[in-house]
Amino acid sequence: MSLGEKVGEVAKSANTIFEGMAVTLSHMFREPITTQYPDRTERPVAEMLPPRYRGFLEVQIDICGGCKRCEKACPIDCIVVEMQKDPETKKMMLSRFDIDISKCMFCGLCVDACKGDATGAIRHTREFEGAVGTLDALVLRYIEPGKLHPLYKAPKDPEQVPVGEYGPHAREARERALRDNPALLQELRSKAAEAR
Ligand code: SF4
Ligand code: SF4
Repeated sequence: MSLGEKVGEVAKSANTIFEGMAVTLSHMFREPITTQYPDRTERPVAEMLPPRYRGFLEVQIDICGGCKRCEKACPIDCIVVEMQKDPETKKMMLSRFDIDISKCMFCGLCVDACKGDATGAIRHTREFEGAVGTLDALVLRYIEPGKLHPLYKAPKDPEQVPVGEYGPHAREARERALRDNPALLQELRSKAAEAR
């Protein structure tokens, strides 16, 4: 390599370093694009979520009929529903209802399966904060190990189905009603406090 070529290479390297440093320095004077979470956001993040946000799953176990539609619908086997016979009553009972949130991709197929063909017992919440110490803590267990829970049987007569308590969208409807009616919410809270 001739001297002229060597000088050219050195100049090229110096230019590259200068360009890189210029980009780095320019970032020191720009407005930040990201916001530090959670304490420096303008509003709580939960308030900024879109209306149909799919957060962690939740099961209203008292209206689960154990049909396993949600378990079958899940493409990655996050949900495990098991049943066994109660030795005393000889009735089939739920013995396990686990959802492994660490695997869940929040596709909503389980929710659709339950809402469309069963009772609407499983649904997405708006909860998204899942920082825990162990992966096992992300397995949501709706039946305590060793315990049994009765299966929900919908009344044959549709008029017997408690309105606002059971059925597809029941919980959403109830929550919406409570949100829109603070007096009712207060009344229910007082009743719950008295019952304790
Ligand atoms: S589909 Fe619904 S009712 Fe059936 S097992 Fe799942 S949560 Fe329970
Ligand atoms: S949301 Fe999707 S991935 Fe998560 S448990 Fe339901 S079906 Fe499985």
